[in-house]
Amino acid sequence: MTTTANAQFIAMERKKLLEEQSQVSEELTHLREFMQAEVDVEPDEGDTEIFEREKNAALIAVLERRLQDIETALKSIDKGDYGTCSRCGNPIEIERLEVKPDATMCLNCQREVERMSRRNRPQRQIDW
Ligand SMILES: [Zn+2]
Repeated sequence: MTTTANAQFIAMERKKLLEEQSQVSEELTHLREFMQAEVDVEPDEGDTEIFEREKNAALIAVLERRLQDIETALKSIDKGDYGTCSRCGNPIEIERLEVKPDATMCLNCQREVERMSRRNRPQRQIDW
């Protein structure tokens, strides 16, 4: 049996999402500042510097996607369809939303999408 999201739950999720949104934006700002900063690369420090930058670029991409999910979730709260899977239209599991308030898909769809994208991405990632 699936419990549907009630108003109180949604209000709580909205608060969590807004907090997360400001945290993620702040982190993104820091990372972007780091990426834009002028660097004098010493010959023997070059590798570390490049590694750091690549790591940061990857992190920025992850955070940007996360921010998008958060914004999508907030928009769906405003529209009144929060907690509905964007892929199959079924309600997203409450337990899942508690762990991941920005979830836009139900667990089944998420797993399926991950299975499909795993072909291009060898590491296994469970993110809910
Ligand atoms: Zn679904």
